[in-house]
Formats: sequence, C-alpha cells, structure tokens
Amino acid sequence: MPLHEPVFAGNEWAYVKDCLDTGWVSSVGSYVDRFEAMLAERCGVAHAIATVNGTAALHLALLVAGVKAGDEVLVPALTFVATANAVAHCGAVPHFVDSAPDRLGLDPVALEDRLLRTARRSGGICINRHTGRRIAAIVPMHVFGHPVDMERLGDIAGSWGLPVVEDAAEALGSTLRGRPAGSFGQLAAVSFNGNKIVTTGGGGAVLTDDAELARMARHLSTTAKHPHPWAYEHDAVAFNYRLPNLNAALGCAQLEQLDGFIAAKRSLAARYRAALDGVAGLQVVAEPEGCRSIHWLNAVLTPDRDARDTLLRATHGEGLLTRPAWKPMHLLPMFADAPRAPLPVTEDLQARIVCLPSGVRAAGEDGRLPPRRKGGRT
Ligand SMILES: *Cc1c(COP(=O)(O)O)cnc(C)c1O
Repeated sequence: MPLHEPVFAGNEWAYVKDCLDTGWVSSVGSYVDRFEAMLAERCGVAHAIATVNGTAALHLALLVAGVKAGDEVLVPALTFVATANAVAHCGAVPHFVDSAPDRLGLDPVALEDRLLRTARRSGGICINRHTGRRIAAIVPMHVFGHPVDMERLGDIAGSWGLPVVEDAAEALGSTLRGRPAGSFGQLAAVSFNGNKIVTTGGGGAVLTDDAELARMARHLSTTAKHPHPWAYEHDAVAFNYRLPNLNAALGCAQLEQLDGFIAAKRSLAARYRAALDGVAGLQVVAEPEGCRSIHWLNAVLTPDRDARDTLLRATHGEGLLTRPAWKPMHLLPMFADAPRAPLPVTEDLQARIVCLPSGVRAAGEDGRLPPRRKGGRT
C-alpha cells in the first residue's frame, strides 16, 4: 500500500482528450483560465496563477512579496526541502524556526521569541542584529494539511511589518475557522504534484487577493513578455513557469472531485484514529483545534527514534509504505550554515513521526471510489 496514490475517476480523460483534439496543449488555453478561476474560488482568494510546480509558485510568491538576494526569510526547519529551496532560489537565506508540538507547523510563539532575540526594526524594515541582513518574509507551512495558527502568526507578522507567504502545498481544502488555508498570507503557494490531494501531473499555483501582486506573478511566470500579437517585448529577466493547458485540463477534472477526496481522507483519518488511539506508545497526530484538516498525510508519534525505526521496518515488511518525516532543513549540507533558532521540537518530532499510507483509495469502502484502472502508477 503506497503512501499516496492519485485517483482519476472523473472527467480527466475527456478534458485531456479535448486538449489533444483541439491542439491547445501548451501554456495558453481555456483550461488554464478555468483551473485558475476554480482554484481562486475554492481557496477564497481573488487571484490564482497556475505554475509548472509548487516550488516555482513559492519562488514567484517570494519574489513578488519583495524577497531580494541577501535577505533572510523565516521558515520552519521541519518541512519539505522545496520551502527552503525557494528561498535560496531568490538568492536569500532561510532562517529556521521551530515547530509547534501539536500542529507540527511553524510555532508563532517560537517565532516571536526568535524575533525578539535577534531582530530589530529600523526605518520600517526588520534587520537581523547578528547577521545584519534584512528579514524579508515569513513562510509558514501547513504540515500534512494541518493549518498553522495563522491568526496568531498574522498578529506577530503585522507587528514586525513582515509579509506572510503561505506554503500551502499540503493543505489545499483545509480550513481554519472556516477560512481556507492559502487565504491568510499576502500570498500563498499550492502544489499539484502527483502525491498531493489534487494532481496535474506536476503543477502549482500562486494565490493572492492583491491584483498588483497577481499581475507581477503572472508577468514573471511568462518571461515578462508584454501581451502583443507579434512583438517580443520583455522587461525583466523572468521565468517560463506557466502551467500547460494539458496539465490544467487534468487539474480541472481533479478539482471537481476535491470534496470527495477530502471526505475520503477524513474518513481514513477517523479510521486510523479509531484503530490506533489508545495503543500503548502511539499518539495519533490529531486535527488542530478550530481546523478542518484534509489529513493529507496521517501520522503517528512513536516514543523515540528506535521505536520509529522498528515501526518503519515492520510496516515495510508487510508492504505498507510508511515514511519518517523529512530530515530537518538545518541538517542538510546546503543549509547547515543558515541561521537558526533553537529547534528542540523539530528534532523531537522528526525522531518520532511515522507517516501512514494516506491515499484517497486507502479509505476503501468509505471512500466510495471505483476500482483502479489497469496499469495505474504513482
Ligand atoms: C509538495 C510540496 C511543495 C512543492 O512541491 P512541487 O513538487 O514543486 O510541486 C512545497 N512545499 C511542500 C511542503 C510540499 O509538500
């Protein structure tokens, strides 16, 4: 049983075939527009800009949030490497902050403590007193779909004058007090990689309410070319980050099924909880207070690293493809010298987390999904 598995049970074949039949397969087409409109509506924002992957979306979001070469960006140490890579792609330096033990994502209390100990505000900008670099943004990541406490985080960011860029790659469809993940920051990035709840094969999107930031992100994603019937006018060194219509077609069909996918994931989470709650030594990672999580990945905490490794070995022996959490960013060679706050919670969680198979199909009967097509592969 894989950790994730995409499900294509809706209009995927029809929409992709339509692209092939009409020849609209590349970076312009009606499915891109439709996909962006569906996404914006779903995420409660005014604008969505579809990109080739989630890392590219995060890169663009950081750039238009004003992150420049030589800046620092506050990010959790417990995240997938793309969060820190996107910061580095801007020529900026990730500055690692600890996680909240209950939500797994960036801890606003630890963040505020770090800012008080290391930062000062001067002339409207936030400076790291120790490195002298400007701190340019905060990037919370909603780990396994569980929203960070964005209300608390927003207050702290506001008092330090820092923009928030959400890495909502794992949380499409999750809500906090009824408000969608991805709608809290000035900008957010989502991912449609094959392992995410909605997939376009590969893909991502920038989300924002700000029309000017949306225009800038779209412009940078399309080689900074001015719209014109024939002329090649570009006004910046930019990117080819637009999502092809072919992928957007898949995305439209997938988004149509998002509510069903969420219901299946939530029912799977309830079944894991019923089966594992009360098992000595295991603590099931629960939905945070005030949230409705998509439970992108179900996880348990074991007592220690040895118990984690025993569980990983035993489950793999049974064909259950469980996984540990990511190696924390400060332990990766390219980020070893990056500034960081004390990370006791990150290190404790990382030693104890085991992620359980969480594909929509694993929900089984309750998920009410048709059988897999022959030859399907993640
Ligand atoms: C999946 C993911 C991304 C983006 O990944 P892409 O593969 O580039 O789409 C970014 N951050 C996190 C936390 C992720 O899980």
